[in-house]
Amino acid sequence: MTLMNAETYRESLRQRKPLKVWLDGKQIDNVIEHPYIKASINSVALTYELAHDPELKPLMTATSSLSGETINRFCHLHQSTQDLMSKVKMQRLLGQRCGTCFQRCVGMDALNAVFATTFDMDKKLGTTYHERFKAFALAMEKNDWIVDGAMTDPKGDRGLRPSEQTDKDVYLRVVEERADGIVVRGAKAHQTGAINSHQILVMPTVAMKADEQEFAICFSISADAEGISYIYGRQPCDERKLANDEASDIDSGSSCYGGQEALIVFKDVFVPNANIYMNGETEFAGTLVDRFASYHRQSYGGCKVGKGDVAIGAAASIAELNGAAKASHVKDKIVEMNHLNETLFACGIACSANGSKMASGNFFVDPLLANVCKLNVTRIPYEIARLLQDIAGGLMVTLPSARDWLNPETAGILEKYFAGAAGLDTRLRIRMLRLIENLTMGRGAVAYLTESMHGAGSPQAQRILISRLANVDEKKIYAKALAMNNSLETVEAAIRAGLTKVRGGKKV
Ligand code: SF4
Ligand code: FE
Repeated sequence: MTLMNAETYRESLRQRKPLKVWLDGKQIDNVIEHPYIKASINSVALTYELAHDPELKPLMTATSSLSGETINRFCHLHQSTQDLMSKVKMQRLLGQRCGTCFQRCVGMDALNAVFATTFDMDKKLGTTYHERFKAFALAMEKNDWIVDGAMTDPKGDRGLRPSEQTDKDVYLRVVEERADGIVVRGAKAHQTGAINSHQILVMPTVAMKADEQEFAICFSISADAEGISYIYGRQPCDERKLANDEASDIDSGSSCYGGQEALIVFKDVFVPNANIYMNGETEFAGTLVDRFASYHRQSYGGCKVGKGDVAIGAAASIAELNGAAKASHVKDKIVEMNHLNETLFACGIACSANGSKMASGNFFVDPLLANVCKLNVTRIPYEIARLLQDIAGGLMVTLPSARDWLNPETAGILEKYFAGAAGLDTRLRIRMLRLIENLTMGRGAVAYLTESMHGAGSPQAQRILISRLANVDEKKIYAKALAMNNSLETVEAAIRAGLTKVRGGKKV
């Protein structure tokens, strides 16, 4: 059993074959030390390091259902609703610690979704994917891998099905079947932590129709496999990190940690049979997508709340540094921020507490509540960020460069005119404003805001799921029974008769 720490994780990345990574117009070879990437590796490394902290171990680790060993929770198949809640609490904790995306949740969510779906597929279709996937799950926990759960295809023209696209490669697909495996071509977009991962677990991007078999594909592959390349995603203000000096540290807002997204390109990549967990079983593509999406929508009820805690801490701090902490409207706004943030946490906990055991043995979240959680995530962090910017004041966006603070000719002027509350450190005020800028408009906003909108599916996807799962027909029965009857007995009888009818004759 391996329980890596931050350093052994970094070393394990160095052990990979050189990745083909393009960043800002150039192919780079320093994928561990590049200033953009280094900060994102630090965020992932936290998930390893904190697993060794005696106090945090109960949250950061779990007992494997496959091996009985103590493993990192990110490699765990959830065995109870308690496990699901611990996952959310762990994500909140990590969000508080780094204030950005720690990238490892997509692999955990894909692990649980593929485990359950291969089980169901084998049972219905007589395939043998589950044992194969179990071997992958065991290797994942044994090696303490970070796995990129790769779902989102670029999708080309959204009005066309995969096979109708002018260039079919915009949906990742099988281009050749061989006796020993398959060859795939395509890409996965917005891939969180892709370059910091050991493995990629590819899943279909949408439900597939019966004739879309070439796109109904699920497999795992090493991040350094032949034919895979990466093009790094730009983030707002990322160039502020490039100089790698004190001024760029200050101006980047949060210099230690960062997130990471990239486009992964699969150029005729060979996948051996042992690594394939779905190949053409179109009727299960939608199930896999929905399960992964629900798990990841639950994840946001933890990770975004942790980042929200940082936002609230920043609001309270800057209010003090500005000398406005006692103003009643500021106090009230901070109460509102807490109310909103804990509402999200309540959603994350609720969909976990109301989870249930699947046939495969691992636990699934309540999908309706997970979708409600994520739909709230598309709004609440934006409102928290708005209140944070309100409390911070306009200086957040008009502040001179840190180089002017470090230049003796201008430092005194800035100290004089940007001093805030009496007796408090002007430099701390400046750094706090940069943190707020980062969190609400800079690199940190990718993880806290933009990803809140589109990560784990855009808001319309949650609306569709909510409309499918909310069971409005049953709600109509309650309303009609109450409106139409005038005795306790007939109300109850009407409800029971109605429920029996909508539940396909199953007596209630
Ligand atoms: Fe985890 Fe949040 Fe990053 Fe998704 S956005 S990988 S849930 S930290
Ligand atoms: Fe995400």
